Parts: sequence; structure tokens; C-alpha cells
Amino acid sequence: MKKITIAIDGFSSSGKSTMAKELAKEIGYTYIDTGAMYRAVTLYCLRHHLFNDEEIDEKRLEAALPGLNISFRLNKGTGRPDTYLNGENVEKAIRGMEVAGRVSQLAAIGFVRRRLVAGQQEMGKAKGVVMDGRDIGTVVFPDAELKIFVTASPEVRAKRRMDELVAKGEMASYEEVLENVKKRDHIDSTREESPLRQAEDALILDNSHMGMDEQKAWLLEQYRRVVGE
Ligand code: C5P
Repeated sequence: MKKITIAIDGFSSSGKSTMAKELAKEIGYTYIDTGAMYRAVTLYCLRHHLFNDEEIDEKRLEAALPGLNISFRLNKGTGRPDTYLNGENVEKAIRGMEVAGRVSQLAAIGFVRRRLVAGQQEMGKAKGVVMDGRDIGTVVFPDAELKIFVTASPEVRAKRRMDELVAKGEMASYEEVLENVKKRDHIDSTREESPLRQAEDALILDNSHMGMDEQKAWLLEQYRRVVGE
């Protein structure tokens, strides 16, 4: 059967990663979480003190970027890929509030985007990928055969994020999480470099009132329609 490229974009904590992972598993495609790549670079900046108050030391970051190796390896326990930064498993470290609080600022920098986008295009060039992010259908793979734009109300998304953090044993208040979700939406949608927007040919999925099984079935149906199954 022909392999296609599936681009899933949308707002923070819209549940797009979960549905993208599930679909990839079901149809035997490679799942690529591009948000994890921006998060891994953010973690590097935090660890190397490249953030000073509101600023990022762009000069040092630009010099360090070519030496950063971000990869994904399957975790046999979870059945899902974990994110590695220079050989270290950083999956847990990149999901905390500290990284979440800084990542959108970093993702607005043009040279960071260009480098990560080039890596994403390389990873997906053989097709057979489900890639999720903010600019996949618009910038990374504008010719993707199937594009989905996922959205849900900020309150629903903050609740989901909260549940995820609690499940991982992280402390955060609902207000703090809601504020972070809204702040990231704002930065992601208003930045100059590849702002988050729906591709003209993307299908919109508002999953505010949908369960995971329903979303999974919907997505699988779209995939089957496109490959003509
Ligand atoms: O998807 P996730 O919430 O993990 O992404 C973290 C952040 O990375 C987003 O808020 C956004 O600022 C940035 N991002 C991006 N472009 C992508 C994926 C993520 O700018 N393709």
C-alpha cells in the first residue's frame, strides 16, 4: 500500500500527540513528536544557563545548536518513542513545567526553527510518518497527503495537561497550567516565524467533547479514505 505523510498540527495539550501516536502504532508508521525537539533544545538552554530573565543568549545557542543531537528511540515498556538529547533519555525532563514555561520563546527563534525543520524533513522524507507539531502541514510538509488541525477550548486542554502532570507526580495548580496553555497559544500564533495556523487544506478536529476512542476512530477513517482502503 502507498505510504503517505500525515501532518497533525494544533494547540498545546489538544491531545494531538496521543492520537498521533495511536494512529502511527495502528498503521505501522513512524511517529515524530516535533514539540519534543523544541523542548529538548529548551532543556539544553536551561541546563547551560542560556536564559537570563526574559532573554535567551542567542549567540551561544547558535554556536551550540549544531552539536545537539536529538533522536527518538522506542521504549519497549511503554511501546512509545522516548526523546534523547546527545544520547541521554530526557523524556521525563522535557515534560515538566520549567521547560513548558520557556519552550515557546525558544521556538520563536528563526535559526532554531530552520535547523529543527531541516531535521524533521530528513526524518520524514521516506514517508510513512505521522508527525505532530505546529507547522507541519504549513511549513515542514506542505504537500502532506493528510493534514489535521486539532483544537479544543483552553479550559479543556488545561484540564488534560493537569491530569497528565498529576499522573507523573508533578505539582502544578490548574490556574498555572491554564495560564501556560494560553500564553503558549498566544506566542505560537503570533510569532513572525511560521506561526501556528491551520493549513488551508487541513481538516479541523475540535475534540473538546470527544473521547480518545472516538478520536482514534475518526483519524483512522481519514487515513483510510486518503489511502483509498
Ligand atoms: O507539542 P508541544 O506542546 O510539546 O510543543 C511545545 C512547544 O514547542 C509549543 O508550545 C511550540 O511553542 C513549540 N513547537 C513549535 N513547532 C512545532 C512543535 C512545537 O513551535 N512544530
